[in-house]
Amino acid sequence: MKPRYWIQTYGCQMNVHDSERMAGMLESLGLDATDSPEEADVILLNTCAVRERPEHKLYSDLGRLRGLKNDKPDLVIGVAGCMAQREADSIRRRVPEVDILLGPRNLHHLPLLVRAAQNGGNRDGLGLETDPTPVTPVRRSSATSAWVDVIFGCNFKCTYCAVPSARGREVSRRPSEVLDEIRQLSDLGYREITLLGQTVNAYGHDLGKLDDGTRIDFAWLLEQINNINPNFRVRFTSPHPMYFTESLVDAIADLPSVCEHLHFPLQSGDNTCLKRMKRTYTIERYRSIIDRVRERIPGVTLTTDAIVGFCGESDEEFENTLKAFREIRFDQAFMFAYSPRHTTEAFEWPDDVPAIVKKERLNRLIDLQADISREKNGELVGQTFEVLVEGPSDKDPLKLAGRTRGNKLMIFPGALRDYPVGTIVEVEARDGFLWGFTGEAQRVLSSVDSPRVLMELQMAG
Ligand code: SF4
Repeated sequence: MKPRYWIQTYGCQMNVHDSERMAGMLESLGLDATDSPEEADVILLNTCAVRERPEHKLYSDLGRLRGLKNDKPDLVIGVAGCMAQREADSIRRRVPEVDILLGPRNLHHLPLLVRAAQNGGNRDGLGLETDPTPVTPVRRSSATSAWVDVIFGCNFKCTYCAVPSARGREVSRRPSEVLDEIRQLSDLGYREITLLGQTVNAYGHDLGKLDDGTRIDFAWLLEQINNINPNFRVRFTSPHPMYFTESLVDAIADLPSVCEHLHFPLQSGDNTCLKRMKRTYTIERYRSIIDRVRERIPGVTLTTDAIVGFCGESDEEFENTLKAFREIRFDQAFMFAYSPRHTTEAFEWPDDVPAIVKKERLNRLIDLQADISREKNGELVGQTFEVLVEGPSDKDPLKLAGRTRGNKLMIFPGALRDYPVGTIVEVEARDGFLWGFTGEAQRVLSSVDSPRVLMELQMAG
């Protein structure tokens, strides 16, 4: 039997895609995936340092896994991702059974490190100066939607954020590599791609110009992708206001492949708080971008991230965040109570908003956003949407789940034999909820015709 690997992923989409790359590399070494850590010969925990819960979960998972080494001394255990980079000493001290530490800039070293761990050699891939761009095999988890890295790292210094210390400075992938990958995805019949970067719209600022003098930037990249396949659904996460140019607004508005959805982190609606966070924009600048986007792309879905209870956040500052939410009316938001992270500037400051106040503020913001989401989705009842089928609904196997171009969830009666995963269906929204819509299919807009997709779907059952 072939040796097997098991990967546990914590955190954001970037980490999920990093795990796809690690799976691809392990498979190129001849390993097969398994669902069970007990059966694995190589175990990787791909960690996140942004959220607190995954951090705690890592140590409890490692506590469980270290026992497996007693029965299987050749088992290789690795910790990858942001925590491996930032907490290497602590992981080594607390769990000496960990064989490999692999930072996010060093993923491509995984095959070497696995071999080294099996032979007792050097097993740390932690350099922050390493070039993170080498192309690696990828084992994609979806037959129809794919993530594509375009820029690694982050040059900003947001005072609460651990990403720059874990992922290093920005490095854009070469355009030829990004576009080759996207061309292959198009040829393979993928329907949707999501471009990834901590500051995705900073793409190209470190690349200079093309031979003909064209400046390489994110708007240019979107245009090239659209030229490859105007029928793609292109999404991206996360843009930063600092790099939100007029040409980017034009690209989102004019290119048919770019979906009408903008995830645009706000973090706080108060200028003093934004300054302490070192977000480098004001609420006025943020709102001027939103106004321009809405003017050019009527009906665009807007989603955001917000932190409440950041160091020194006064009642008035929090009220300004509520006010911004009330006035902007996001479609959805990811909202968190602040908690300090090692190696960030704010870690040195008093975490002075009491836990009970953070909780109360978070609940108020969540309640406000829930009302707005419900209202906005209710207003769209009766409209039809292009929905990309993702699979059966989790809650009702007689229904299917898919996403609109605006990234809203749509549940509608139907079976996979009529609407296989990857089909694009026109669906009328019949009811609006906090989380999206229920609807009725009207007609198939585009069926799945890629032999690769059909085969993968058949194999997946
Ligand atoms: S822009 Fe700020 S919040 Fe986003 S990854 Fe960079 S430092 Fe972190």
